[in-house]
Amino acid sequence: MFPVFFNNSMHTETNSVSPSSKKPALVVAEWRKKFPGKVNLCGVPAATVEDFALAHDIDFVRDTLSCTIPNGFNNKDTKVAASLPYTTGSMVTAAKYLLMSEEAGVAVSPTSGFHHAAYNRSMGFCTFNGLMVTTVKLLKEGLAKKVGILDCDFHYGNGTDDIIAKLNLDESVVHFTAGADYTSPQMAQRFMDRLPKVLEDFVGRDILLYQAGADAHKDDPFGGLLTDEQLYRRDKMVFEFCKAQKLPVVWNLAGGYQVAPDGSIQKVLDIHNNTFRAMVEVYHE
Ligand SMILES: [Zn+2]
Repeated sequence: MFPVFFNNSMHTETNSVSPSSKKPALVVAEWRKKFPGKVNLCGVPAATVEDFALAHDIDFVRDTLSCTIPNGFNNKDTKVAASLPYTTGSMVTAAKYLLMSEEAGVAVSPTSGFHHAAYNRSMGFCTFNGLMVTTVKLLKEGLAKKVGILDCDFHYGNGTDDIIAKLNLDESVVHFTAGADYTSPQMAQRFMDRLPKVLEDFVGRDILLYQAGADAHKDDPFGGLLTDEQLYRRDKMVFEFCKAQKLPVVWNLAGGYQVAPDGSIQKVLDIHNNTFRAMVEVYHE
């Protein structure tokens, strides 16, 4: 079974064009149906103000959580604010679980909305940077000395770079963000060819946080790079590398914006299902 760090409080309905906030519950329901006996649902404690302040300005954290300033969806919805401690909490808890367990393995955080969140600013459906809150917490608590962040969302992880620079974490964090270099479908094969070399940069890290973004799909209205088959190979390559290197990996959902006329997001869920399938095939648990 594979640990999936999920809490119903991660789920909110917003009127945003981004389905990110309702994805956790939908994707977990899909996995339980499609991969019977493979989902080990694990609880998620809420991240605290102090946790968020590890990677963000404390006033920005307080004002966002109290809905005094807009969240990453550019609204002041209290339901979104209430979900934020659990999305970041999921990533933190999944990473700590792997680092404190005997065997290096894989864990799932069905979360999105992290990488555009900068030190004191939210944007692009991202309010707080759960990747960087997790990274700094692991470093501070001595659970990791070197952290890798492999961001295969279609967009540039500007918020992650901003926090790494602000906190001078260049030495402790290797960050690759595909969105900085690969911006059109013509670059798909180049990305696939480079991925093995990108992965080599994570040799010797204590843990990898992997954003298996679904908006890298070629039909995504805000993305557009890889085919279904390439996305699946991308995920499989990442998991095979981590398994061979005994590198613990937490993966999450990140972006994905293909919405059917009836409002369903099955195409996005199918991409996340393929990531789950790649994990099951590589780790055989
Ligand atoms: Zn994106």
